[in-house]
Amino acid sequence: MISVCDAKNILNKYSFNKVNYVDIYDSYGKVLAEDITSNMDIPFFSKSDKDGYAVVDLNLKHYTLVDEVLAGDMRDLKIEKGECIHVATGAKVPEGANYVIPIEYVEKSNNEIRLIGDIEETNIIKIGDDIKKNDKVLKKGTVITERNIGIIASLGIEKIKVYETPKVGIISTGNELNSIKDVNSKTIFSIVKKSNCQPIFIGNAKDDIDDLKSKINKALEHCDVIITSGGVSAGKKDYLPRVVSSIGEIIFHKVKMRPGMPMLFGEINKKPIFCMPGNVVSCLTCSYVFLLPFLKKLAHVPFSKKVVRAHLSEDIPSEYGMTYFRPVKLKDGMAYPTFKGSNLITSIAYADGLIEIKEDETLKNKNDVVDVWVFE
Ligand code: AMP
Ligand code: MG
Repeated sequence: MISVCDAKNILNKYSFNKVNYVDIYDSYGKVLAEDITSNMDIPFFSKSDKDGYAVVDLNLKHYTLVDEVLAGDMRDLKIEKGECIHVATGAKVPEGANYVIPIEYVEKSNNEIRLIGDIEETNIIKIGDDIKKNDKVLKKGTVITERNIGIIASLGIEKIKVYETPKVGIISTGNELNSIKDVNSKTIFSIVKKSNCQPIFIGNAKDDIDDLKSKINKALEHCDVIITSGGVSAGKKDYLPRVVSSIGEIIFHKVKMRPGMPMLFGEINKKPIFCMPGNVVSCLTCSYVFLLPFLKKLAHVPFSKKVVRAHLSEDIPSEYGMTYFRPVKLKDGMAYPTFKGSNLITSIAYADGLIEIKEDETLKNKNDVVDVWVFE
């Protein structure tokens, strides 16, 4: 048996650095595998911020209208003192113009305009005001969002170098899945999605060595990580430790924790495999404690814990040498334990977070201040 801390240290050594190019339309949620440096000034021409009239200065009584520039008209126009050129929002401002007088500030008669009121801004967006050429605009490791994708689009980049999304194959095991519903594959599927990885449900395997091997082999063909649930403890039909050691290597089996003690981690063909306990709360707890940070690291997205402090509403005894994870509900600064049993999903389904009782403790007392790792 291994401690939670040692298990985490082992898992922390894994990474996944495959890269590929994706079309910008497929890039949402992907992680940049290179810095993006601007190859041009944005805007690359001076443009008007308003619908109005470009002029050289503001001191004249009136200006003569000599031309009109709409957005998309890229002519190189020049403007002289005493002249004005009508410019649309976003249109290229003629050379020599220092102001755009918004149309609301103008009185127009025939070909003449007159400025009314005071102009405080130039209403001209200068070359490079938004992005300067050669600036590092996005760093490697940035997750592409609906906000920063606009920077990439502004630069005209259509293919983006990103880290490949790890594919995670999920297998539920147990003869009982003919009669009871398969919960764990859905739980794990959700954790995989939460980790920015791609879940692939491979199917349910019987408590049968050949079936387990064949499902695992199928997962190995398509996936970078494999996760099974069930069949990993000390029961007669718990074949997974045997299967993993026969086709790969067990790195650790059994963690000093409750729930979740039977968990196994190994490698087959250099691909990590997690064998989660079958009990639904154990499976979810191991998923939070080990899988979520592991997969996020592989996906190159940051993992952080949101922790709040609360007073415990009742005693929780624990076992020396074992780390206890207990779900709690939070209300008015109090943490109310919700654990009823490792195989009762409502033990955790309505909880707000987990508390951890360390290996060297045997009790958390009522009213103790505890750190609650809040589910997000
Ligand atoms: P095991 O770890 O295989 O001994 O499974 C322990 C118990 O967990 C089983 O008896 C089932 O009640 C439950 N269990 C196992 N796998 C699943 C699953 N995929 N979905 C829901 N419950 C499961
Ligand atoms: Mg079983």
